[in-house]
Amino acid sequence: MSLSEKLPLIYQKLLEFYGKQNWWPGEGIEIAIGAVLTQQTSWNNVEIALNNLRKANCLSIKCLQSIELSKLEELIRPSGYYRLKAIRLRNLINLLAEKPKPTREELLSVKGIGFETADSILNYLFEKPFFVVDAYTFRIFKRLGIYNKEKFDYNELQKLVSQNIPEDVELYKEFHALLVKHAKETCSKKSPKCNECPLNDICEKLVVY
Ligand code: SF4
Repeated sequence: MSLSEKLPLIYQKLLEFYGKQNWWPGEGIEIAIGAVLTQQTSWNNVEIALNNLRKANCLSIKCLQSIELSKLEELIRPSGYYRLKAIRLRNLINLLAEKPKPTREELLSVKGIGFETADSILNYLFEKPFFVVDAYTFRIFKRLGIYNKEKFDYNELQKLVSQNIPEDVELYKEFHALLVKHAKETCSKKSPKCNECPLNDICEKLVVY
């Protein structure tokens, strides 16, 4: 089976098994804020930080540009690395204030904004066809026997997916969300539940930790 047949099949199987995920949680500028806050932490912690910002009426470009950095750090503290993230957030917000529709290159020029964060913002906030890949995608695709490189190369893996599924923003959003769900619930790092897995019959089950 070719990759352009296999990837849509994987998507269909995951969709039937888990149902639609309707990512990203939140809307508007909250998506960009969440994309920074979720670096190196779980979404639960991000939710707490976002709630703090909401209560402080600070889910806006105007507030995030003017709030004292120490106050911002306090509000986003539950998301971890809060000092670093406060600076990253301020830098990103300054870019968005200047360029409301930034390119990928402009996002990547912001210190602390890497490929995954930039593409999450482009795909989920700006509805652009940039497929988001991450360590979960790498693990699942390695085990499936689709991606056989030793190291995770973001742009290479993204290209492999993008070239083998239709260029469709909604599909990109949903497929990424389903892969995250699958990695967390079934194809976990240490104990994949292959017997319950919807991809069992097309997976090579290569061991990857
Ligand atoms: S069959 Fe096992 S290794 Fe393969 S995707 Fe499913 S859970 Fe992961």
